[in-house]
Amino acid sequence: LKSPYHGGHLEVVVGPMFSGKSEELIRRLNRSIIARQQVAVFKPAIDDRYHAAHVASHSGQLTPALAVGNTAQVRQHLDAGLPDVVGFDEAQFFDAGLVPLALELADQGVRVVLAGLDLDFRGEPFGVMPELLSRAESVEKLTAICMVCGAPATRTQRLIGGQPAHYDDPVLLVGASERYEARCRVHHVVMR
Ligand code: ADP
Repeated sequence: LKSPYHGGHLEVVVGPMFSGKSEELIRRLNRSIIARQQVAVFKPAIDDRYHAAHVASHSGQLTPALAVGNTAQVRQHLDAGLPDVVGFDEAQFFDAGLVPLALELADQGVRVVLAGLDLDFRGEPFGVMPELLSRAESVEKLTAICMVCGAPATRTQRLIGGQPAHYDDPVLLVGASERYEARCRVHHVVMR
């Protein structure tokens, strides 16, 4: 006799900044919460410490989450028991351990929902995202609205002091005058 399908799988939601990834993650997780499923949500912490936080969308929606310094902390947290659904926001900032962790969870019957940037500010694949996209059962690519022409925006424009950032700038930049805009392919500019 074959055992029934346990429902474990990976869902990935990607797109540029402002495309509604966090909104979509919150929408998917809220339905599970309403159905009284156990849901755990993780996001990367700016510092190394594990603390209570929220996943927030640019439009102001919130869902409780745990901020973690790395995937080892996610594992520690899940050692207490597996929820029905595990969500990850800003998945692009997690370490490479996110891929085996997500796969193990799915194999154990957990629905894993990951939201993150598919491309960095240069338009290059971002961190662990390519591998997650390949391995996911479901992939949704969202678009924002290009701030220059109004076309669907698939890229994130980084502006430093109002000017397009340089290709060689670090992917992670702690700076005062840095700003991001959603842009289409034509209006996404990277200085070389
Ligand atoms: P993401 O997680 O992809 O950055 P969020 O879910 O946090 O996106 O925010 C999406 C919200 O951002 C939209 O509902 C809208 O209110 C706002 N927004 C700001 N700029 C734009 C833009 N250029 N195109 C579309 N939405 C935008």
